[in-house]
Amino acid sequence: MPHGQDVENDTSDITSEYECLQCGKIVTAETNPGECEACGGDFHNRAKSVE
Ligand SMILES: [Zn+2]
Repeated sequence: MPHGQDVENDTSDITSEYECLQCGKIVTAETNPGECEACGGDFHNRAKSVE
């Protein structure tokens, strides 16, 4: 049986959690929210290791 089914659109879970470095606010977004709406701090992606 040929392997003809490609699962190429695995976009069911493309969002990440971002945490504000200043106030700790957590937001879920597809891309970095930029500035925290609460304090204007920077977000970092919680799914990635922070250096
Ligand atoms: Zn904040």
